[in-house]
Amino acid sequence: MNNSKIWLSSPHMGGNEQKFVQEAFDSNWVAPLGPNVNGLEKDLEGYLGNQVHVGALSSGTAAIHLGLILLGVQAGDEVLCQSMTFSASANPIMYLGATPVFIDSESETWNLCPIALEEAIIDRIAKGKTPKAIIAVHLYGVPYQIEAVRTVADKYGIPILEDSAEALGSSYKGQKCGTFGDIGVLSFNGNKIITTSGGGAIVTKTAMQKDRAVFFATQSRDSAPHYQHSEIGYNYRMSNICAGIGRGQMEVLDDHVALRRKMHAFYVDLFKDIATVTVFDAPNDDYFANYWLSAIVVEPNSEKGIDREALRLAFEAANVESRPLWKPMHLQPIFSKYPYYGKKVAETLFEDGLCLPSGSNLTDAERERIAAVVRGFFVK
Ligand SMILES: *Cc1c(COP(=O)(O)O)cnc(C)c1O
Repeated sequence: MNNSKIWLSSPHMGGNEQKFVQEAFDSNWVAPLGPNVNGLEKDLEGYLGNQVHVGALSSGTAAIHLGLILLGVQAGDEVLCQSMTFSASANPIMYLGATPVFIDSESETWNLCPIALEEAIIDRIAKGKTPKAIIAVHLYGVPYQIEAVRTVADKYGIPILEDSAEALGSSYKGQKCGTFGDIGVLSFNGNKIITTSGGGAIVTKTAMQKDRAVFFATQSRDSAPHYQHSEIGYNYRMSNICAGIGRGQMEVLDDHVALRRKMHAFYVDLFKDIATVTVFDAPNDDYFANYWLSAIVVEPNSEKGIDREALRLAFEAANVESRPLWKPMHLQPIFSKYPYYGKKVAETLFEDGLCLPSGSNLTDAERERIAAVVRGFFVK
């Protein structure tokens, strides 16, 4: 029996990536920028719709960093951030010398809780500072409560940085994720729904904002024949080689979304008779999730020796990768001293939640191996 490792989410090439990369070699356009970068930006603008502008960057983290700069975040400011997320959502707050204020999740989408968000804003204002920005995340590709979060943000005049790193291909009421924030962020890291091996993008409402982001991303060069700088710059642009991979990946994006959704449907079916497991699902038909990762919540049962960790170890013994959900930022050693608002929704999810293999390239044989682990584990 083939017992090779089943990964959570591994790169899945479509076929034409090498053609675009070859073109870059043929024209010796191996440097940063170039026709593939422009092409990828055009592809993404067309895909996202809503007249957005897209700047391709070296990573999603770089896009969050520049996004916060565009929103005017400076040293000493406070930035509200969903606690349950990958650390890359929060780290750029620190790069800028600003202070993160972490917010709990609600239990429907596992994302920013609008009630805790408003409590935090009221309290921060009472303490003397209006937060500068809100970082909202679409975890595992399930959109956050778009309208409720927007209502709170607008009530207090605070812009939203939409971390859509996990949600390319997801939408809410037919509008693509990445286009809801005042600034949007995408990631093409190796484990994401499409990859450029490493890369990301910033999504803006105006051409001027995009130009500004690209200016910062290319060392903030003033227009002069010599190198002249009036502002601090960064080296954050995407290379023409990576962008070639991205153009090939854009051709298969919707296929990959369909395949990830098929993996999610597989888990819904697999766990349908196991009452103590809940598969993470979008709340209703307004939400279209790419299900970048499929996730479950395991209700612990100490008598039967069933809990999240025992299931994870059973998968590991079968050479199947699974992983606890993102550990909330307010529980991370590096962030534990910063303010946190909420109850314990994210904490409980972290205790009992598990991400399962979700790649668009998984085979029937691999699904059968996953199913066998689950059947063997829950039969006890
Ligand atoms: C992957 C990810 C990022 C960072 O993207 P990179 O391209 O890896 O820098 C940011 N936020 C979330 C929620 C992510 O999952």
